Amino acid sequence: MPTTQIDFPILQQFFCVVESRTGLPPQPLDARPAQLMEAQKKERQEDDRTPKQLPKGVVLGPDGKPCRSCTSFAAWASMTKQQDQRPTTTFSKQIASTTPTAPRPDCPPDVDQLGRSTWTLLHTMTANYPERPSPTQQSETRQFLSLFGKMYPCWVCADDFRAWVKEGNEPRVSNREEFGRWMCEAHNAVNVKLGKSSFDCNRWEERWRTGWKDGSCD
Ligand SMILES: Cc1cc2nc3c(=O)[nH]c(=O)nc-3n(C[C@H](O)[C@H](O)[C@H](O)COP(=O)(O)OP(=O)(O)OC[C@H]3O[C@@H](n4cnc5c(N)ncnc54)[C@H](O)[C@@H]3O)c2cc1C
Repeated sequence: MPTTQIDFPILQQFFCVVESRTGLPPQPLDARPAQLMEAQKKERQEDDRTPKQLPKGVVLGPDGKPCRSCTSFAAWASMTKQQDQRPTTTFSKQIASTTPTAPRPDCPPDVDQLGRSTWTLLHTMTANYPERPSPTQQSETRQFLSLFGKMYPCWVCADDFRAWVKEGNEPRVSNREEFGRWMCEAHNAVNVKLGKSSFDCNRWEERWRTGWKDGSCD
């Protein structure tokens, strides 16, 4: 007979104390591997579940789960903090949670980090675009931007980018200056949407190709 089925009030009291001190509900002392595996499986399922109430700013992905690349670090951290406060399950250890104010540099990117890195790539591509691109280069650049608009990991950002392109903002790729300005305008469209100030597109080349005229990048 499993120990937990023994009707000893003193034992029950002991298990209550164990549970209140460790957060671990009493386990049969002679739990078989199958029972342990079942309990661990249940715990994993509970850990995987999506919180029913998402904090403001957490965006769900197409799979219905929170999309890290679409969400700011602050919103993500407030969600994970909320999850940490759930009652602990069978084998979970209570991990003291402190909310960091900034993401570690070696964690998956949030929407802002991904955005900054992506704009760096995109503007640097325009900075290195030929002054006289061949028809093939122009066509491949359009293809790249079209695929980029479909594959950008922040799907809400990608949707808005495609919508902006369709609103009469087809990529202008006939030469470097045109492409650089077009990218600057694409970036400004996002800046405006996010309530940020617009960048002066007359200075896109200083920012991304030559460095500032005052020589501070030299
Ligand atoms: C295609 C795309 C769509 C996005 N959509 C969203 C969205 O819907 N919601 C969201 O929260 N985030 C979105 N982002 C991320 C967002 O644009 C920013 O990258 C993020 O908010 C971080 O902003 P930041 O202030 O650090 O600087 P960023 O906006 O990333 O800019 C980086 C640097 O680029 C320079 N810069 C700024 N504007 C311009 C410009 N117009 N032309 C040239 N250089 C410029 C500045 O020196 C700036 O420091 C998107 C990113 C991309 C690539």
